[in-house]
Amino acid sequence: MPANELIQTVYEQVLKRNPGEPEFHQAVREVLDCLGPVLDKNPDYVKAGILERLVEPERQLIFRIPWQDDKGNFRVNRGFRIEFNSALGPYKGGIRFHPSVYIGIIKFLGFEQILKNSLTGLMMGGGKGGADFDPKGKSDNEVMRFCQSFITELCRHIGPDTDIPAGDIGVGGREIGYMFGQYKRIRNEFTGVLTGKGLEWGGSLARTEATGYGLVYITEEALKANGKSIDGMTVSISGSGNVAIYATEKAQQLGGKVITLSDSNGFIYDPDGVNLDTVKQLKEVERKRIKQYVAIHKNAKYTEGCSGIWGVKCDIALPCATQNELDEDAAKILVKNGCIIVGEGANMPCTPEAVEVFLNNNVVFLPGKAANAGGVAVSGLEMAQNSQRIAWTFEKAEAELKNIMTTIYKNSSEAAEEYGRAGNLVAGANIAGFIKVANAMLAQGLV
Ligand code: NDP
Repeated sequence: MPANELIQTVYEQVLKRNPGEPEFHQAVREVLDCLGPVLDKNPDYVKAGILERLVEPERQLIFRIPWQDDKGNFRVNRGFRIEFNSALGPYKGGIRFHPSVYIGIIKFLGFEQILKNSLTGLMMGGGKGGADFDPKGKSDNEVMRFCQSFITELCRHIGPDTDIPAGDIGVGGREIGYMFGQYKRIRNEFTGVLTGKGLEWGGSLARTEATGYGLVYITEEALKANGKSIDGMTVSISGSGNVAIYATEKAQQLGGKVITLSDSNGFIYDPDGVNLDTVKQLKEVERKRIKQYVAIHKNAKYTEGCSGIWGVKCDIALPCATQNELDEDAAKILVKNGCIIVGEGANMPCTPEAVEVFLNNNVVFLPGKAANAGGVAVSGLEMAQNSQRIAWTFEKAEAELKNIMTTIYKNSSEAAEEYGRAGNLVAGANIAGFIKVANAMLAQGLV
């Protein structure tokens, strides 16, 4: 069967098998659309059914999470873990706690994770998990009881050589701590079963910063290839969670001026440049809303609603909140305002139509699976440190991160060029990530 026909057949099968999961369809479509030339060149991938197997998770877990709130009410949420592909190593990917979570979100994230982890060059397969639990407004004790119930079921399916979850939206150091404690208690083992752990009990220096820093490193690398630098540029960032905060920190260290941040209620614009100490205090310590920022910095403005954020004029746009937050209209405004580069800190924050606008207007576009791979890369380094029972210095972990991000940029650019899509890093990242996974699947036989 010719490559294009096969791609269409596989995509139709995905639609049929996974109805009502548009985010998963979108993630698969984007990857499949890049693979025609790769299949033409490697007929063995077609013969071995690599595509058909790649889009079907190896294992899908759905489970009940019963817990009790502070008033003594019984509550029930739904938990998920998708163990998508283990060709390159044990399943690896974060856990998301957000009310919007359902199987389609976890599948899209797990699918992206396969190729992202491949790009890091480390031995990690792809997986993802989560629950439709909303940590907002819950007490520490409620979050703890929820995490304990979640891991009480999940602990049967994970392990340091099997499946190693980490954080994502709504899951940070606090939640990883509660899950690790409960896992240790049930299994009676102290192992590197989760990453993003506290520094005193197996965490890696630079893990907290890794996704945001990595995003800025790869952005700087892409600018360098075009004879430019972040120094002196205006940067617009969305979100105000882990990725957004550390992208802001590194962009500021490199001389960029970050002028926006947001949360799910609205965004701030600070013409003087965002004060990161204030943001860290509000978001990391007090767990407050970004709106409070303008009470402290009088020149800053708060706007209710998120979409207007991309109307603020900037040179660099780094969407770091959530999927499909930047649409075609927003992309057109960014182009009109002279934005030269867009780096996806979040997973799939730009709609396919927005990506088209960037590619058609010579805006450098760094897709999430390359641009936000720094987090899972340092998680991989945390696993390596745990296996050796040692801890690296911050400098060593950060240097490795920088090296990995530079290599991802290089490999993605080269793959794009080799397969006739020079300058298209969406194609380059998908192709470079796919080839390694496909070769491993071929070598491991029909599994
Ligand atoms: P956090 O939970 O720390 O922060 C998420 C931020 O995005 C918050 O400001 C949140 O606002 C905002 N947000 C979440 N959902 C929505 C929504 N539906 N609409 C508008 N804003 C929203 O998560 P992270 O920073 O860890 O993750 C952000 C993105 O980066 C996600 O796409 C994640 O998958 C991706 N990512 C994260 C990695 C990591 O290492 N943490 C690694 C690779 C990718 P609010 O507080 O109001 O909910």
